[in-house]
Amino acid sequence: MEVTVETLKEKFDEYNKRYFDGKLKKVKLGFINKGFKNTIAQFEFRIDKNGHLRDTSIKLNKGIIWDEEKIRRALLHEMVHLSLAQKHKNGKKHGLDFIRECKRIEKNYNVKISHCWMKYERINKGDSIHTNPLVICYNIISFIKFRIIQKFV
Ligand SMILES: [Zn+2]
Repeated sequence: MEVTVETLKEKFDEYNKRYFDGKLKKVKLGFINKGFKNTIAQFEFRIDKNGHLRDTSIKLNKGIIWDEEKIRRALLHEMVHLSLAQKHKNGKKHGLDFIRECKRIEKNYNVKISHCWMKYERINKGDSIHTNPLVICYNIISFIKFRIIQKFV
């Protein structure tokens, strides 16, 4: 299916209400630059000098064959990052807070957020990729992309 910014907005609002009690603040939604070929989705933000969360964005890779389920998983994964960043927890890491938030949603709503399961497995393996939070995110989602490609090509 074709994914537009409008699609992302609709989904974000829907998931925000359903899974986060509507507590997530507005975020810029869009698509990743073509340079990031190995990334499915990403969350970015900065903290200003007063400690406020700024310039939050969630972007999906347009080069992916998206369907409802894949959009839900990718968006939810990034929305968990946003939720943590809003609570001033490390929004870029897939640490315990991240896993806890994923599990809350998975348990309460019976949905899967595949990325965090993959992440969880990797933590147990002590994968050295985890030294850089950004690289972690990109690598985890890259891995999923490769699986998706194998499935469809
Ligand atoms: Zn992530």
